[in-house]
Amino acid sequence: MDYSAVIKEIVSELEGKKFGGKTATYIPELATVDENKFGIHLCTLQNEHCSFGDSDEKFSIQSIAKVFGLTMAYPILGEKLWKRVGVEPSGNPFNSLVQLEYEQGVPRNPLINAGALVISDVLISVLKNPKSEFLEFVKRLSGNSSINYNEKVAESEKETGYRNVALASLMKSFGNLDNLVEDVLDFYCYMCSIEMSCQELAQTFLLYANHGKEVQSGEMILTASQSKRLSAIMLTCGFYDQAGEFSFKVGLPGKSGVGGGIAAVFPGHYSITVWSPKLNKAGNSVLGMEVLERLTTKTGVSIF
Ligand code: GLU
Repeated sequence: MDYSAVIKEIVSELEGKKFGGKTATYIPELATVDENKFGIHLCTLQNEHCSFGDSDEKFSIQSIAKVFGLTMAYPILGEKLWKRVGVEPSGNPFNSLVQLEYEQGVPRNPLINAGALVISDVLISVLKNPKSEFLEFVKRLSGNSSINYNEKVAESEKETGYRNVALASLMKSFGNLDNLVEDVLDFYCYMCSIEMSCQELAQTFLLYANHGKEVQSGEMILTASQSKRLSAIMLTCGFYDQAGEFSFKVGLPGKSGVGGGIAAVFPGHYSITVWSPKLNKAGNSVLGMEVLERLTTKTGVSIF
């Protein structure tokens, strides 16, 4: 498959068209990003790469980092993890409080904010230096030592993330957080503030295209079963309350973030990242969804 030609064709089709959408502003630092940024990077398990536009520029990966948090926590806690967080799509916005109250502090899945706060709590409990060890883990997965937190973004979110304070406090009241609310929020905000380029993110997501085995080293980071489960969660829960539509139109497991990034995988074949900061109402990158829908349509292959 000539992915490079397909991506070129998609980009030329999109050129000059207006797609709307708005950059996230509820985290003040994210509002400073140029809304016209647009990057794509696809890499295959055979080490073929194709990119477009701002694919080498680092951006705030936000909720995409929840996948890395889960990748670290799952092998540590094993199946016990699912006592503290579910595996069902939420059908609600990523930061909704209502469902959490009904469901007694057990989040629907690990990719909504409440679920990622539980994962943060798990990691804080088992790691000696949670923030630095998590960063080392992401550096190792990506094979790239330049990956870092953006402290400005993390602090900006800590100052204004009132909903996350509410979610964490509610879960603490139900006994589903072991650590102090402020420590969980601090770790969570740093996790979400990681910056990566499309190229770096696609390279890292190859792990999920490769069924949990690190491509370079051949090391199993996740077992085949854990990798299957993690990809299933991405497919059903990775796109906020638009996961159904993403699956319907694109047909690949993936995860989006409010920084405008989307990372997706075609297991056994490739990973792809698209970055464009303008988001639709559900919080997904408008152009990102558009590119990925066209990609699986034009190539005629998806997981289905
Ligand atoms: N750090 C963001 C928040 O908690 C992540 C949201 C996202 O990317 O979905 O609001």
